[in-house]
Formats: sequence, C-alpha cells, structure tokens
Amino acid sequence: MERILVSACLMGRKVRYDGAAKTSGDALLAAWRREGRLVPHCPEVEGGLPVPRPAAEIEGGAGGAAVLAGAARVLTAEGADVTGAFLAGARSALAAARSAGIRVAVLKEGSPSCGVLTVYDGTFQGHRVPGGGVTTALLELHGVSVFTEHQIPAAAVRLRELTRAHGDP
Ligand code: SF4
Repeated sequence: MERILVSACLMGRKVRYDGAAKTSGDALLAAWRREGRLVPHCPEVEGGLPVPRPAAEIEGGAGGAAVLAGAARVLTAEGADVTGAFLAGARSALAAARSAGIRVAVLKEGSPSCGVLTVYDGTFQGHRVPGGGVTTALLELHGVSVFTEHQIPAAAVRLRELTRAHGDP
C-alpha cells in the first residue's frame, strides 16, 4: 500500500509558527487517514524549532532549491538565520519518506518548508512568489512527487499510477 507524507498541520496538529493547526477537511485525505496511509510530519519542529516560533521566509524571493544550494537563507522578520533548522527539517522529512517507502507527499502551500507552488517573498509583507519550500525541494530532488493541499485529486492520480506500475494493491 502506497503511503503518503503529509504536513502535520494539515492533520490538525498544532505545530505552526503561531501555535495553530491548518486542518484540512478534504475527504480523500480523511479516507487515506482511515486506511492508515498517512505519515504526518512537521519539518520545522523536527528540525528543532519550537512552537510557537517566529515566522520565517526565504530571503530574496528565492525558493527552497536556492536554500539547498547555499544561495539563499531562511530568516525571521528580526533577521535571525534559521537556515540550519530548515535544512535539518528537510532532511528529517526525506528520512521519514524513505523509511516508509513514500513517493507522494501532500504539503501545506505557502510555507517556507512545505510550500509547493508558492512561498512568501522574504519581505514579510504577505506577498507570495512562485517557488517551493526547502523540504519540498529536497523531496522533489529525491523523486518524491509533492502536491499542495489544493491538489489532492492530482496526488490520488499519481498514487494510482504508482500502484499500477508496481502492482501494489
Ligand atoms: Fe505545517 Fe510544514 Fe509549517 Fe510544519 S513546517 S507547520 S508541517 S507547513
């Protein structure tokens, strides 16, 4: 059975920077949860950051790939460099995916860790730019297909493709 890595905040865990959750009411996600397919993970907490914690953004409107390449940092609004924790969190997510044989993830859009299509631009003004988070970039680099919480039907299509290709019931 294909399992799915999912942002812990989408599963109702209060792990966001503001101490809240972002619980998804998606029916497919609920079905996968009942089937025991979901592996919840919060890269920022696993990377050693507390709850709550200062909001952070990738500097310069860059994406997670630039952080992995050492070309951009992750900073709080006060300018504290939290890049190391974000990288540790991304490695932790990859380890969790690998140990469960996971090839599909559903992550929280907009987050500097979990964003898939967009991240905030580093100005802390609420502006988003195209690009993914640090964890998303590392997972994609290692062949995991990553979808936002708004793309769950597409994640289901990918799961079916993988199941057919590998004969996994
Ligand atoms: Fe949710 Fe990901 Fe942020 Fe953790 S790092 S709170 S899982 S969006």
